[in-house]
Amino acid sequence: MHILVTNDDGVQAPGLLALAQAMRPLGKVTVLAPDRNWSASGHVKTLDRPLRVRETILADGTPALTTDGAPSDCVALALLGLIEPVDLVVSGINPHANFGHDVTYSGTVTAAMEAVIADVPGLAFSLETPHNHHNPDYTPAANIARRVAKKVIAEGLPEGVLLNVNIPYLKETEFKGIIITRQGLRVYRDELVRREDPQGRPYYWIGGEAPTGIAESGTDFGALAEGYVSITPLQLDLTARTALESLRSWEWDSRPSPGGREKG
Ligand code: MN
Repeated sequence: MHILVTNDDGVQAPGLLALAQAMRPLGKVTVLAPDRNWSASGHVKTLDRPLRVRETILADGTPALTTDGAPSDCVALALLGLIEPVDLVVSGINPHANFGHDVTYSGTVTAAMEAVIADVPGLAFSLETPHNHHNPDYTPAANIARRVAKKVIAEGLPEGVLLNVNIPYLKETEFKGIIITRQGLRVYRDELVRREDPQGRPYYWIGGEAPTGIAESGTDFGALAEGYVSITPLQLDLTARTALESLRSWEWDSRPSPGGREKG
């Protein structure tokens, strides 16, 4: 069992170290992670510049690889043959939860998506650290991650499926259990913040308060609100199946437009 460990917070992030250490009893672990923070970078494929890979050392003295590419680049590099064949990709532990719509922004989750594209099981782990905690304890989450990975190794995942695992910030004894959920609804509270540089030119931040969510039972957000670890199976087929029929019923003018140009 060869496990690739990556993340989107950078190779020296404490959550990655906790995850790498948690995976070691399950097999051979290779760490290949970005050399900087790529949080909220989405699913990236770097095609316009070369990628450099270099060796580094984690805080526990173990060797790791790091690259100037994105989290999904790390997975692509590894699975395209940079290292020996990989059986499982784990990503995290991200210091913030990835609920609902977050999955398309998340570097943590999109790293696991990249694994699925290469037909390798992918798991993303995120911890719902309270917003005022800057030095979270990853130990309980890392133990959950090992339990989840062990189960996935034993059972295998359905084809094309990755798991988005969100872990509440609780002590080992306080977890209510693990439940399978669907994506919930994130409520973003983003605000446009306009400022001026010293030359009087405007610049912008996407600011505002941290997102919240709708705590509906059966969803990722709802599960954590109740003290459960949430496992959401995800797939890359984003087709809106409920919309297929109504869209097909529209009368589409499928004649070629004159001169190939659409009249506005
Ligand atoms: Mn992150």
